[in-house]
Amino acid sequence: MTRNYSIAIDGPAGAGKSTVAKIVANELNFEYIDTGAMYRAYTLKVLQNNLDPKNQDEVNSLLDSTDISFSNNHIYLDNKLVDDEIRDHRISDNVSYIASSKEVRERMVSLQQEMASRKSVVMDGRDITTVVLPDADYKFFVTASVEERGRRRYLELIDKGVDSITLEGIIEDIRRRDEIDSTREESPLTRTEDSILVDTTDLSIEETVDLIINLVKGGK
Ligand code: C5P
Repeated sequence: MTRNYSIAIDGPAGAGKSTVAKIVANELNFEYIDTGAMYRAYTLKVLQNNLDPKNQDEVNSLLDSTDISFSNNHIYLDNKLVDDEIRDHRISDNVSYIASSKEVRERMVSLQQEMASRKSVVMDGRDITTVVLPDADYKFFVTASVEERGRRRYLELIDKGVDSITLEGIIEDIRRRDEIDSTREESPLTRTEDSILVDTTDLSIEETVDLIINLVKGGK
């Protein structure tokens, strides 16, 4: 049996991480694990139970009665498919509060480490290179300017038929989420010294994928 490999990708919201990670995983025949989707699924559970996302005791109270899993790149909350629901604006607005809880993070990190121990993975998120897989075979920090990230998110939402948004509003949301994610006490988003910086502001998805695949195939 050959050993399992891991590719860890961190970066802020809207940098194109998940789109790129999914294609890279597909090309290398690795499993793709979207850790942001796990925090989103837990946020959905908190909101469904009418709990306050900013109250950590309330947030943590559901941990023992929640099951989050992936199957064929789909995410399940308590065995129910929630791919679409977790992309809702209400989830994006609250997920960073939920992800600030130490207890929530510990649970998610141990689930993620267990997944990576079973197969070769491409995992993306905010703390993958720092906490979840600090010994990953390859580490990347994928980012882009906040204006470009806002523009991409805006176009994506318009494409989905959401029309109650403005570009300025979306950029503001992303700035707020960056701020919470980078300054929180528990595992803030940071670039480790050994992560390769990939700035996608002027790169297409294909160019970003090629860059990462070439670096992986060519060795570090
Ligand atoms: O990647 P995505 O934008 O879907 O992540 C949603 C939120 O989940 C992030 O803004 C962050 O607050 C949280 N998150 C995290 N750690 C991860 C992945 C996501 O704190 N590994």
